[in-house]
Amino acid sequence: MEVPTRAEFLFQGPWQKALFYAILAVSLGIFAWQVWGRVRLWRQGKPISWRPDYLGGVVKFVLGQRKVRTSRPKSGAPMHLMIFYGFLALFIATTLLGINTYSPWKFHKGTYYLAYEFVFDIMGVVLFVGLVWALLRRRFAKPKALTSAPADFSALYMLLILTVSGFLVEGARMNVNPKSFDTSAPVGYLVSGVLPQLLPAHYLGIWWTHAVLVAVFIAIIPRLRIRHIAYAIFSAAGHQVDRKMGALKPITMQEVEEAGQIGVKEPKDYSRWHLLSLDACMECGRCTEVCPAWLVGKVLNPKEVVQNIRGAMKNGTTVAAAVTEEALWQCTTCNACVEACPVLINQVDLITDARRYLVAEGRAPGTSGTMLRQVASTESAWGTPSGDREKWMAGQDVPLVRDLVANGEKFEVLLWVGCAGSVDRGAMKTTRDFAALLKKANVSFACLGKEEKCTGDPARRTGDEFLFQQMAEQNVATLEQYGVKTVVTACPHCFNTIKNEYSVFGGDYEVLHHSQFLSTLIKDGKLNAPSLEDGAVTLHDPCYLARINNEADAPRHALGVPSNLNDHRTPVDRWLNEATEDGNRLAEPQRRAQKTLCCGAGGGRMWIEEDINQRPGDNRARELIGTGAKTVATACPFCRIMLDASLNNVAPDQGINLVDIVELVKQAND
Ligand code: SF4
Ligand code: SF4
Repeated sequence: MEVPTRAEFLFQGPWQKALFYAILAVSLGIFAWQVWGRVRLWRQGKPISWRPDYLGGVVKFVLGQRKVRTSRPKSGAPMHLMIFYGFLALFIATTLLGINTYSPWKFHKGTYYLAYEFVFDIMGVVLFVGLVWALLRRRFAKPKALTSAPADFSALYMLLILTVSGFLVEGARMNVNPKSFDTSAPVGYLVSGVLPQLLPAHYLGIWWTHAVLVAVFIAIIPRLRIRHIAYAIFSAAGHQVDRKMGALKPITMQEVEEAGQIGVKEPKDYSRWHLLSLDACMECGRCTEVCPAWLVGKVLNPKEVVQNIRGAMKNGTTVAAAVTEEALWQCTTCNACVEACPVLINQVDLITDARRYLVAEGRAPGTSGTMLRQVASTESAWGTPSGDREKWMAGQDVPLVRDLVANGEKFEVLLWVGCAGSVDRGAMKTTRDFAALLKKANVSFACLGKEEKCTGDPARRTGDEFLFQQMAEQNVATLEQYGVKTVVTACPHCFNTIKNEYSVFGGDYEVLHHSQFLSTLIKDGKLNAPSLEDGAVTLHDPCYLARINNEADAPRHALGVPSNLNDHRTPVDRWLNEATEDGNRLAEPQRRAQKTLCCGAGGGRMWIEEDINQRPGDNRARELIGTGAKTVATACPFCRIMLDASLNNVAPDQGINLVDIVELVKQAND
């Protein structure tokens, strides 16, 4: 019986082989020349040090397609996965064939060959279906964040033609040279049966057409959006797998002296990784679809930020001119775009680095300039004197660290109040209720009072890096002076900054959000969980807690709601990890946990004047009210301020009750 295998260069002699190799060499040469052109542009950027764990990023984000799997489950994600894995399979199939042809190891035969034919035939179908799906979606569904220019279709059509011509080559080969084992490639076998009886010349015509198309495709890949398959590998490799989403990269004075400026003026001021990541953009629009600014009609469009800086990389325009200052200042640093981007582009880095330059040039918008001056002069983002930080304590008998230390007494937990928690009316209520609950649960805690200063978060996200560093150094010095080990705070911005950004300044603490602390006290039986009517309460997840610090369970647990949302981002993950315990049921908004929708306060936006028709908070308020709940709970003083204004704007007569989760816990323990 004949051993299953495939003849190489069927019906072709040495000169045809030589011609094929010459065409392939030219096409690979054109490909490499274009890629080198991009590499030269990336090399304008600041050098980066490659880390030994770079393979982790490639495995997780390219081979594992982690980000694609966790976004757009109802439309784009399955389609993209079919195209990616189909394309990858055909690439592997071609590589295996090449190894068999050009190495002494001849393994392309027998059972292996039959399995090879079957698996890669099926993967060809997967690719075909994914491509047709993508074309139909782009042509008819027309998602708002996607463009539909001819260039947007070209790569898809090209790949579709290659897939179909590949099946034709296979079918034609079986037609002119049938074998008993041809059924192992069912699609090729089907095609061979559909074709009329062919002559070897016909087969050669089809084979050469396919070969030339492949060569043309390779040569133009760098011009097509599909180039992202190659560049995303570098982007994933250079991405620091363990980099915290909530930590911005510090600038040193030495870097400022070397560069002669603060922040990024032109694309060459970014790192080489940031520049190469721009080329990995597949223009999928995932970042745009989730951007709270774009959703309310502002000019900020994270996809365009990436594309415009990519354009500026070549034409030498400044980032502010390419992106527009208006767009740069509209970002809330909510990181929704960063979370959504499949190729790991960090739009928040791109934007905050450009803001740093604008702030240093005195080009911060008026109201945020006021906030920066307030932080610099009063050490409070609200511009209140330090003594005001103790006003909320009136009649509360709250222990102060300085008093305890003076009396030789100890405390276990530092309650970090934050600027909002000490001066904003609603946030002061949260602080008081939380302090009362700590006392009720017999927690050994104390506050810094007037010794506490702004963490520097609004200054850093606005772009005043050195003001942030000044605040961080002073706060770390105070925390070290008192030997603080554990910090708890009701503000996700303070939580994020102390937890993720203070270690660079020597501050390493156990930092907990009040929702985490409360849920533990409830679990340990020291406090009661609230009893909520099903669907009466909805929860707004703060970006700086749920997305940036992956904590969506704790606020729910504190409300007695069974929840298993952390780290479980796909619908399948959620289904597999469905929380089944009894408990309260929230009226959940569509966007929640890591996919939450920003209220519009972050990134220093709370201090920037807002067009009343373009408030991200209004969008969020409508979604929360749409759940039918009459109580909106949140776990962030910034979100509370923004939602308060937005609920008054969009639903002034609906009697919606806005609370921090701590108030509901407090009611259950009065
Ligand atoms: S930046 Fe990322 S999410 Fe946005 S369009 Fe490009 S690839 Fe898609
Ligand atoms: S961080 Fe948020 S506001 Fe800024 S560009 Fe990204 S999605 Fe838009």
